[in-house]
Amino acid sequence: MKTISKILRVSTRDRFQLINITMEVESFVRESGICRGILVISVPHATASIIVNENEPGLLSDIIEKVKEITEPDSSKWLHNSIDDNAHAHIGSALFGHERVFPVNECRIFKGIWQDIFLLEMDGPRSERKIVLTILGE
Ligand code: ZN
Repeated sequence: MKTISKILRVSTRDRFQLINITMEVESFVRESGICRGILVISVPHATASIIVNENEPGLLSDIIEKVKEITEPDSSKWLHNSIDDNAHAHIGSALFGHERVFPVNECRIFKGIWQDIFLLEMDGPRSERKIVLTILGE
């Protein structure tokens, strides 16, 4: 079994933002030469997440609105805000997770046509966010 890793780097421009990384992830899988295995997409950050869903502008805006509603970025109740004013983003990362996993089959990500892969920024803008891609298989 082989394991191949790569770090994708993206910058973000908004406090909350969804960045579509599907093409970069698909290229990584193609170039890995691995045709059957497991793909892990993770972020080494405590204030961002990886999510999977449809790339439809209205829906992406809906998701951001719901993330704000859940994480309450303007709430004065968060204790962590006395340190660096981003408690909402830590809470979002804790709730939505730092990783997603896909099977790899026939040399491709086994995913639905409406499943695109996004970095969910919750504490932007950032000049660099890392996304760790790891594929295990043969
Ligand atoms: Zn913090």
